[in-house]
Amino acid sequence: MEKVYYFDNNATSRVAPEVAKEMEPFWGELYGNPSSMHFFGGGNQKYLDLARERVARLLGASPEEIIFTSCGTESDSTALWSALRAFPEKKHIITTKVEHPAVLSVAKYLESQGLRVTYLPVDAVGQIDLGDLKAALTADTALVSIMWANNETGVIFPVEEAARLAHAKGALFHTDAVQAAGKLPINLAGTKIDMLSLSGHKLHAPKGIGALYLRKGARFAPFMMGGHQERGRRAGTENVPYIAGLGKAAELAAANIEKENTYVKDLRDRLENGLLSAVKNTRVNGGGASRLPNTTNISFEYVEGESILLMLSEKGICASSGSACTSGSLEPSHVLMSMAVPQTYAHGSIRFSLSVYNTAQEVDHILREFPPVIEKLRAISPFADGKPLFGMDSCGTPHHH
Ligand code: PLP
Repeated sequence: MEKVYYFDNNATSRVAPEVAKEMEPFWGELYGNPSSMHFFGGGNQKYLDLARERVARLLGASPEEIIFTSCGTESDSTALWSALRAFPEKKHIITTKVEHPAVLSVAKYLESQGLRVTYLPVDAVGQIDLGDLKAALTADTALVSIMWANNETGVIFPVEEAARLAHAKGALFHTDAVQAAGKLPINLAGTKIDMLSLSGHKLHAPKGIGALYLRKGARFAPFMMGGHQERGRRAGTENVPYIAGLGKAAELAAANIEKENTYVKDLRDRLENGLLSAVKNTRVNGGGASRLPNTTNISFEYVEGESILLMLSEKGICASSGSACTSGSLEPSHVLMSMAVPQTYAHGSIRFSLSVYNTAQEVDHILREFPPVIEKLRAISPFADGKPLFGMDSCGTPHHH
């Protein structure tokens, strides 16, 4: 395969070689069921224990507080449903406008079923205002769910303070830390966070494995019911290879946190500053807020994100755009819309997300290849002469209102 310049680590990340190696025995000789009474299956319990300790260490939690799930989405769903079952008398939840669909779609569904949902707004840099949270909390609030860091912009939210406010009103607090885990130091001991979701494939474990942190003593009702696995908190025979892989990935991530915040952050800054100085009419979405060290979301005025991505893809460069061409109409992402990114910019948003596997040579490759892409697209853009962006859909076909 030709060289891949992979700058899409918030979408998914490569499985670390050490993680793949850790998983190997479970495809072969170690196939037992950890719940079995016999030595062969029961012997596998120790690998679950080890993984649980490693994940707990990454989060500053204790092993009993870690529940393995099938993905970040399952952890998020579990947290939301659990809070409502734990407080059947309460009919209100609070979240933000910029959550991942794994939280937002559940919130929307609950709303359709008669629950009251408050969606906290964000300002122009993508940050929430804790005053809004304070104002929204009532004795009827079962749960506050606020992501630790946003997947599109990398903006970091004040979750520890938000958790204290939620607790003061008797509400549970959940955070979707799928993008934060492994990138930011997290120490849950001493916080009021009740539940935290993480996902393996964002931190160099495989896709299809996740974890939910559940604070000791927090009210909880399981999502998956059945066997007694995970102390009755998540039924289903444990995915031993993936859990072992997640454990190893958590151990590696804990050891790499400093590198994320020095090496990876330096590469991100080099890329961001390089693009800003090489291309006119750009803006960094969330640039004014505190952000994940690996993420930059840059808007290029008068161009379509999809066109940029396709041209980059031809050069082996992988990134994401802040919009999706669905059913023939291009809307900027809900995150950029919530930040009120101007229309002429919002359509041309590209997210680069790095990892410890990226190099300065790769960044320099992008800095060479990228500016001509924008130049070319602007030269053929029907908008660059100042015409408004309306009247054309995402896919370049004119559309009628
Ligand atoms: N939450 C956030 C913030 C994410 O970025 C993602 C993945 O894109 C998820 C949840 C869902 O995780 P998973 O793909 O493991 O279900």
